[in-house]
Amino acid sequence: MPIYEYRCEGCGHELEVIQKMSEAVLRDCPECGEPRLKKLVSAAGFKLKGTGWYATDFKDSGKKKQKSEAPAKSEPKTGGCGGGCAH
Ligand SMILES: [Zn+2]
Repeated sequence: MPIYEYRCEGCGHELEVIQKMSEAVLRDCPECGEPRLKKLVSAAGFKLKGTGWYATDFKDSGKKKQKSEAPAKSEPKTGGCGGGCAH
C-alpha cells in the first residue's frame, strides 16, 4: 500500500499514513484538530535504486581491455589416493 504524507497547514504537523488508493484523503490534523491537512507528494515511498557508478565501467570498455586469463579450472580430485598414495 502506498504511503501518503500529510502536512497540516495549521500547525505544521507532518504525518505519514498508509492508505489504500481508494481511501479518502485525510483532512483532520491529529495534532490540532483542524481540517487543514494537505496531502504531499509522496517522498517516503521513493527509494533510490542503486545503479552505482557506471562511468568507470564505460572507461574500461573504452580501452577494450581484454583479459586472456583462462577461467579457473577445478580439477577433479580423487580424495588423495589417486594412485601414488601408500594407503
Ligand atoms: Zn495541525
